[in-house]
Amino acid sequence: MTAHSRMRSPEIEAMDRGDLDALSEERIRYTVQYAEEHSTFYRHWFASHGIRAADIKTHEDLLELPILSGRTIRAHQPPESREFGFLSAPLEEVFTIHETSGTTGVPKAFFLTWEDWARYAEKYARAFASQGLGHGDRLVVCTSYGMNVGGNTMTVAARRLRMTIIPTGKCTFPLRVITSYRPTAIVGSVFKLLRLADRLEVEGIDPRKSGLERLIVGGESFAEEAREHLAERYGCPVYNTYGSTEGTMCGECQVQDGLHVPEDLVHLDLYDPGLQEFVPDGKTGRIVLSHLLPVGERSGMVLLNYDSEDTSAIVSRTRCACGRTHLRIRPPGRESDTVQIGQASLDRIEIERGVFQPDNLVELNGEYEAFLYSEGDRGAVLRIGVECRNSPACDREGISERILHTLLSKNRALAAVHAGGEFRVVFSFTQPGGLELHAIKGRPKRLVDRR
Ligand SMILES: [Zn+2]
Repeated sequence: MTAHSRMRSPEIEAMDRGDLDALSEERIRYTVQYAEEHSTFYRHWFASHGIRAADIKTHEDLLELPILSGRTIRAHQPPESREFGFLSAPLEEVFTIHETSGTTGVPKAFFLTWEDWARYAEKYARAFASQGLGHGDRLVVCTSYGMNVGGNTMTVAARRLRMTIIPTGKCTFPLRVITSYRPTAIVGSVFKLLRLADRLEVEGIDPRKSGLERLIVGGESFAEEAREHLAERYGCPVYNTYGSTEGTMCGECQVQDGLHVPEDLVHLDLYDPGLQEFVPDGKTGRIVLSHLLPVGERSGMVLLNYDSEDTSAIVSRTRCACGRTHLRIRPPGRESDTVQIGQASLDRIEIERGVFQPDNLVELNGEYEAFLYSEGDRGAVLRIGVECRNSPACDREGISERILHTLLSKNRALAAVHAGGEFRVVFSFTQPGGLELHAIKGRPKRLVDRR
């Protein structure tokens, strides 16, 4: 089977760049117009900024529109406002209502019509197909089926590919799900899939012989080293996806050289940290996204110039080896995963890379958490906690050395503050389950600034 035959809609996914850009601009014009006509928020917003929807014609024109954030959505929904300002279809046309699990404040409400669902599902179906999934596959969905769209969208997407779904909604399912139903793929987060591998091995089941042919990971960014480790444990490829209730569903194809953005359905710009200008291709920027509605289609909630608070960089806008032309981005990271130490910045992923050095994983189970404390005039101390499979009998010195070396050898600014005595790193070792993060419900924050 050629890579081409796996495309859901080759006429769209392999469209020439010029045609794709033209299609995207046609949809930008229609979507902006639709938003103005159907949502009270956009009507007032355009008017108060002196913007005429008819003047927004191209991707560059989006620079004229202010950027929206989660805060903007919350400010235009109850309890802060009487109505849902972003709602852009009559309520009786809305098929589902969602909430995003906001880390602070009231969750943001999202309204989806069935047409929104069809577009969301199409995006996931394309990503799954590009990863080699299709008819005959049995997919365990560890992603939750709660108020976010995740699990449900994947389920609707699976219908399009005629796959079988096993909707466990979490990765702590009984192991008979693996042994009885012989799934061929699992969707989950890196750490959930690592814990599952541990459970399988404890029960004497070799993950490499479990029948799984691929793993799809998403939910949060991860170090390449973590992916390699997971692929090694399961003996199968691990593909990255980036999805959210806001409607970004990007997936890595089998070439694994960036995540394809479904450019006909979502427009993605990368902005500088001040959110003023686009960054050049290849440079890291904030992901700002706009929905694209095909002319004539409707939506329950349109987002234009929405700041996702995630960061990424363009890998390429040229045709991928898989045949798709849709642009590819680096796996997105979280802006809030970065801390500043003097002149240096440190990202959670850099710590993860250190933990997942192959020699460390002989004794570590991969779990980690890091806290940054102030030492007054003496700068800052980073306390990294890891879990030893057979604590306390692990090579603490070797593990500490390897993590510190990974941190400092790739980050010159950090090495400088370390050499200057403004920054030091200490390590703590516990048994499996001993880290603080296990006591927290929901997705743990692994790098916490406690200064
Ligand atoms: Zn590709």
